[in-house]
Amino acid sequence: MQPVHAEIVSIGEELLSSESETLDTNSVYITQQLGSIGVRVLYKSTVGDDEARITDVLRIALRRAQIVITTGGLGPTVDDMTRQAVAAATERTLIFEQALLDEIAEKFARFNARMSANNRIQALLPEGAVVINNPAGTAPGFYVDYDGALILSLPGVPREMKAMMTQTVIPLLRERLGAPRVIKTRILRTAGIGESHIDEQIGHLERLSNPTVGLNAHAGQTDIRVTARTDTEAEAQALIAAVEAEVRAKLGDHIFGVDKETLEQAFADAVAKAGLRVVVGELYTGSAIQRRLSKAHFPEGSIQYADSEVMAVLRDSAEGDLRAVAEHVAAALCAQYNANAALVVIAEADSSAMAVTNGSETRSRAYFYGTDTTAPDVPSGWAISMGWHLFKRLA
Ligand code: AMP
Ligand code: MG
Repeated sequence: MQPVHAEIVSIGEELLSSESETLDTNSVYITQQLGSIGVRVLYKSTVGDDEARITDVLRIALRRAQIVITTGGLGPTVDDMTRQAVAAATERTLIFEQALLDEIAEKFARFNARMSANNRIQALLPEGAVVINNPAGTAPGFYVDYDGALILSLPGVPREMKAMMTQTVIPLLRERLGAPRVIKTRILRTAGIGESHIDEQIGHLERLSNPTVGLNAHAGQTDIRVTARTDTEAEAQALIAAVEAEVRAKLGDHIFGVDKETLEQAFADAVAKAGLRVVVGELYTGSAIQRRLSKAHFPEGSIQYADSEVMAVLRDSAEGDLRAVAEHVAAALCAQYNANAALVVIAEADSSAMAVTNGSETRSRAYFYGTDTTAPDVPSGWAISMGWHLFKRLA
């Protein structure tokens, strides 16, 4: 079977306005739901409450995706334009459905709310559309088949959209697409190597269509996500295994774990295996390293955290550029704390440096950034990742 691709169209002026705080969480949820049945989202579009623009976006979506899901703009007010736009994009007229109006009226009665005249608009559907029941609100959704594609329109209210996705849309798509397909993802986690270097090595794999291979970079860490979509578990495993073998052949030295394994624990395991006693010294990082490493399990007595006053004194007594200072502080900490390895980060206002040492070998780096207060996470992440890479070789 040909893979089926989707586009999500998020409709609402509030999603584009500079004053609004509404985040497009609907498209994130829908992407996850579609992923669970093997449908990949290739595009997301966001458009305001303007009939012509929505129609344009839908026409484009219907050309490049087999499944188009819209959210928003199904209410009864003049700025709710989705039904008109779907009708225009699918070349249909809007038809008044008395039965649908009766259902809406019955819901208002049940909720003890007064229905206004403009609710009549919600009983208009593109000709041939099928209603998607809304169990959590009054605005019904609908879907229309058009030229080999399926367009489904849901309300914007997240609670209503979610209920309709799980109760109607996902079962409908499962039925249309045949047997549930297998989707398997394996995440190969790397550290101590930059995203661009990884890309150089495995760029050709990133162009595969099954499995897909994607990179996701954090500070000091890059995840390689391999996702296979097949009919059977065994096929998926085989597709992933082949790519994994190739990635490991190229980058194995930098892969610290898979799936949910963490860099913090890989670091702790390297320290344990090498039998190291590590001292961590950080200055002006908000204890970023300690916060991260406290999530991992270290052997008793294998890790200690230098006092910030000690760090301040060592920093002030060291000479040279910040990187040289970090190296010097790392060596001094080992002596002062009776340790045989150290991890140091000094994050100052416009630059930072980090050093890792195991006594005989030292690695260091400097960073330059503005005064972004989240920036200490970057050198801290790099420090842990470089520490892991250095220490694991001693194991
Ligand atoms: P609507 O169906 O267009 O009347 O949208 C109703 C409400 O749902 C809006 O006022 C937003 O608060 C919320 N909403 C609409 N679209 C989204 C979206 N894409 N993600 C999250 N919330 C949304
Ligand atoms: Mg709206």
